[in-house]
Amino acid sequence: MQDEAHYRLPRTVVPSRYDLTLEPDLAEGRFAGSEVVTVSVEEPVDEIVLNADDLELSGGRLEGPGGTLDVTSIRQDPETERAHLSLSGTAEPGEWRLSLDFRGRLSDQLEGFYRSTYKDDAGQTHVIATTQFESTDARRAFPCWDEPDLKAVFGVTLVAPDGMLAISNGPEIDREALGDGRVRVTFAETMSMSTYLVAFVVGPLEATEPVDADGVPLRIVHRPGKQDLTAFAKDVGAFSLRFFADYYGIPYPDRKMDMVGLPDFAQGAMENLGCVTYRESLLLVDPDKATQPEVATVADVIAHELAHMWFGDLVTMRWWNGIWLNEAFATLMELLAVDAYRPDWERWSQFLRSRAIAFEVDALASTRSIEYPVRSPDDAAGMFDILTYTKGAAVLRMLEQYLGAERFRDGIRRYLDEHRFGNTETHDLWDAIEKATGEPVRRIMDGWIWQGGYPLVSARLKGGQLELSQRRYLISGEEDDTVWDVPLLVRTAQGTDPVLIEPGGVAFGVPARDPIVVNAGVHAFVRVDYDDELLGRLTADLTSLSTDERTQLVDDTWAAVVAGRRSAVDFCRFAESFRDETELPVWQSLLQGLGWCERFLSAGPREHFRSWIRGLLWPAMYRIGWEPRQDERELDKPLRGALMAALGILGADPQAFGMAMEIERESRGDGQVDPSLVAASVGIVAAGGTPQDFERYLEAMRSARTPQEELRYLYALPEFRDAMLLDRTVGMTLSDEIRTQNVPGVLARSMANREHGTRAWTFVKEHWEEIVEQVAPTTLIYVADGVRYLTEPEQVKDAAAFFGAHPIPQSALQLEQILERQRVNEAFRKRATPELMSAFGAGAELG
Ligand SMILES: [Zn+2]
Repeated sequence: MQDEAHYRLPRTVVPSRYDLTLEPDLAEGRFAGSEVVTVSVEEPVDEIVLNADDLELSGGRLEGPGGTLDVTSIRQDPETERAHLSLSGTAEPGEWRLSLDFRGRLSDQLEGFYRSTYKDDAGQTHVIATTQFESTDARRAFPCWDEPDLKAVFGVTLVAPDGMLAISNGPEIDREALGDGRVRVTFAETMSMSTYLVAFVVGPLEATEPVDADGVPLRIVHRPGKQDLTAFAKDVGAFSLRFFADYYGIPYPDRKMDMVGLPDFAQGAMENLGCVTYRESLLLVDPDKATQPEVATVADVIAHELAHMWFGDLVTMRWWNGIWLNEAFATLMELLAVDAYRPDWERWSQFLRSRAIAFEVDALASTRSIEYPVRSPDDAAGMFDILTYTKGAAVLRMLEQYLGAERFRDGIRRYLDEHRFGNTETHDLWDAIEKATGEPVRRIMDGWIWQGGYPLVSARLKGGQLELSQRRYLISGEEDDTVWDVPLLVRTAQGTDPVLIEPGGVAFGVPARDPIVVNAGVHAFVRVDYDDELLGRLTADLTSLSTDERTQLVDDTWAAVVAGRRSAVDFCRFAESFRDETELPVWQSLLQGLGWCERFLSAGPREHFRSWIRGLLWPAMYRIGWEPRQDERELDKPLRGALMAALGILGADPQAFGMAMEIERESRGDGQVDPSLVAASVGIVAAGGTPQDFERYLEAMRSARTPQEELRYLYALPEFRDAMLLDRTVGMTLSDEIRTQNVPGVLARSMANREHGTRAWTFVKEHWEEIVEQVAPTTLIYVADGVRYLTEPEQVKDAAAFFGAHPIPQSALQLEQILERQRVNEAFRKRATPELMSAFGAGAELG
């Protein structure tokens, strides 16, 4: 095994500025470029080593204090993605200018300098050349020192066909017609920054008029005809830029902001300084036609990327081990900003829904610590997962709430100010917050960052004392002696106080009879196990718990079912005590568990379950009403949608199905129908849909008016419970009917199909090589994710054997987690099926 140094370039020559010129040939899918890199030679060299991958280099000379040296030969090593330039003499220490010419081809795998295409209304295809460099693909666009701490200033020039939009990180400062149908566009130089943040986009795109965000001109770049979907992004973008400048106490570090919607994009979005790129569905939205979660997701992603302009772009991780902090922190800031933008969205409550998934993964034996030593950039590829983004953000939120929001913010300000334009390690952040607050931040956080898993906090009453102890929570139930410093809040009738549970536990006096909430506000990343007395006090009056506390209680209870410590039938009884529940995340958590229960039922008991769930849901549905009301809360709309979808799909309710048919048809016309009801209806109709409905859905997808509508219909296709239709859906993933970026999502959803998931899995196995070639390597793991739903013993063996022979090295640990989770689900199915079949055997009453 090689150590990190093996993957680092020699520091004998380091860059400080790149003057880059690039000219993409959109029709031929190629590009040509030249660069002059200002470098500092630190010790005498007769060879320069830098990164270049899939590039054809030519020419080359070095000019400096000792005159001019020629590059006499170039040796490229595809293995290390490096170029070795031999010089005609020795370059002595000092400042030199290295000139190189190069050519390459535009990638079709959504990485490096790549091609994205779209068809206009007349059916004509248009090509865009755009970039995605993180983590190490800048080297596929231009030769460079492609490591995050080798920061430099970038002066970019693009040569583009006249009439095409050309943008980069800095604002345009010069434009010269070349007289042959081409134009040379020069951009202002950037601040000193990492190579992975460079971006350029050339293509038939349009930009909106700028909006002024306290002196920063902000534009939305989109394909022609989509201008009417840009207002929301402008509004959130401007809000976020102001919010962060204020929170961080530092002005925005670039001179303009372009947010670019691209038809093809591997991940969600990318924080290139001043030129942020997005999937269209995460930038372009019509708030009147999209559901609250669809609109909120756009806000989340925009706020996340703009948070990075400071945390990530201005102050950057020294090496790729720091990816987790970069992403976890941007996720925390995204939540803070969106919560400030729309308090009525109750963003923190919704965060519990994604945090529940992090809890699931982190309870596996194959989980990992948030931070780990990273040698090669490939080691870091596995860091872009739920543990980084969601658990990472959750433990930062835990610290923020324990310290207090203002003290935490003061620490962040101190950190950014001390390290502006620089690179850092994780402990630099802890040290800054520690200095600002005087709390043992490094000690507390090290346990959370360097150890996988999380604690189950046991709360026991003993002689008027509350005893809090901890042990690691593992689904397997295995013993494990990992311990943490757990900062949390405890609420009694006398108030809410911070408590630090040290490894040995803690005890203190509490009031005799009142409810006691351990982990009040549920900010700590722990599950809580109350003794019977304490639990009884809480469930006697669920209204003594906040929405978030009830949501977490449901999640903790469901987790105990999956792990085999409670029965699935218990969970159904527990769900009955929520008949008066009015809050969206609580219902979402309940319905998710009940959805799994439904998968394990068949024949008569399934019918009884359906009628039981209708009995559970109808009162809630009556309470909220089918029609949106003028004065209702914002989240009542998605709650109505969630209840309707559950009635229609889990409850097979004929009335819900009839309404869904009507609403879905109506929504395709010109009238205004509530988007939450439309989204629910699209799902319900698909689950009970016919081949004719399928054809209509395909047409609706093709002619969709917004990216959200297109995705809604696309992702409904795998929900049709008809073998032939599912075969058609998975078959389409290898045609140009479905964009590469959406293929993993369609295949995973197809494997989750309740009746025919196995057919989709067979398709995936048979076409694996084609899928691997087609999708972006970092997204292949999302295809594999679908096997979690295949829980028959032979399927579990089959998946293990298949992935044994077809590993996914860039996501090896995530694959291991998926397979472990599949085994957990297999055991769960085996236990729960007879219990549920028997409990629902006699009728719709739980025996
Ligand atoms: Zn990010």
